[in-house]
Amino acid sequence: LAGTNKGLVEDYQQGSDEEYLRRLQILQALPEAISARHLQLHYQPKLDCRSGTVVGVEALIRWHHPQLGIIRPDEFIPLAEQSGDILRVTEWVCEAALDQQQYWLEQGHALQMAINLSALDLQNEALVSHLTQQLHQRRLSPQRLTLEVTESAVMADLEQAQLRLAQLRESGIQIALDDYGTGYASLAQLKYLPVDELKLDQSFIRRLQHEESDRVIVQSTLSLARQLNLKTVAEGVEEEPAWQLLQQMGCDTLQGYYFCRPLAPAKLEQWLQQTAP
Ligand code: C2E
Ligand code: CA
Ligand code: CA
Ligand code: CA
Repeated sequence: LAGTNKGLVEDYQQGSDEEYLRRLQILQALPEAISARHLQLHYQPKLDCRSGTVVGVEALIRWHHPQLGIIRPDEFIPLAEQSGDILRVTEWVCEAALDQQQYWLEQGHALQMAINLSALDLQNEALVSHLTQQLHQRRLSPQRLTLEVTESAVMADLEQAQLRLAQLRESGIQIALDDYGTGYASLAQLKYLPVDELKLDQSFIRRLQHEESDRVIVQSTLSLARQLNLKTVAEGVEEEPAWQLLQQMGCDTLQGYYFCRPLAPAKLEQWLQQTAP
């Protein structure tokens, strides 16, 4: 078991042999999956809350393993974070997503592209220059790229995150604070975070029309965001009444199964053609 790390050994002590072996298999297969093109990106549309027009997409990674089947990102991303492979995954994701964005732009679809980063990516000294180079090579505007960082990743090392996010923002790239409301950032900290967008966590959105307490949280978060000049995104919109409520509350952008699930690129193109006004 050479090459395993602290996180895995801790997991071993907590979980069953079977779970441990699966984790080990996943970790060992990951480097090959990157080079063998077993990874794929699916894209979920983001819509303007008022008009319902598509403004962009979020890239979400998928892994089809020849033996293990579909491995969900919730399972392998945390493992890749423990092993450090996440840096290579992110590198691949950025290149694939920007290639796709460029292609769509040529097809007449000008879409904001959102990419997810992990906490470890924020420690990567080369991230900013790598991204600006990738954008430049494809003649893509940095303003059209949004990087999503979870609130908890930012809070894990606030100083490091502030530094890196400020650098990214200086280059024109947009920053979204993902899963907002689950990571204990205080209002005072939020004020000093270099972010452009708050992405309300799905747990507040999914049952919005049924839960008074969720409505109170969402309403006050939206008015706070407005006062701080932040754009707002609600994800996990699964039913029409939630859309109506979010519209009344003045949310800017929406995402969710009610509109569209994450789709492979060709499927997304079909969907775009069908929904075009
Ligand atoms: P996330 O960034 O919060 O992404 C949103 C997740 O919610 C996605 O799950 C999406 O498919 C799902 N979702 C979207 N709309 C709805 C809805 O209306 N209802 C419900 N129930 N779910 C909805 P997915 O694709 O399985 O990704 C899970 C997580 O894995 C992501 O959460 C993100 O943290 C991570 N992830 C995915 N792709 C990447 C990536 O390329 N890089 C990194 N670092 N993390 C990624
Ligand atoms: Ca996200
Ligand atoms: Ca999220
Ligand atoms: Ca999440």
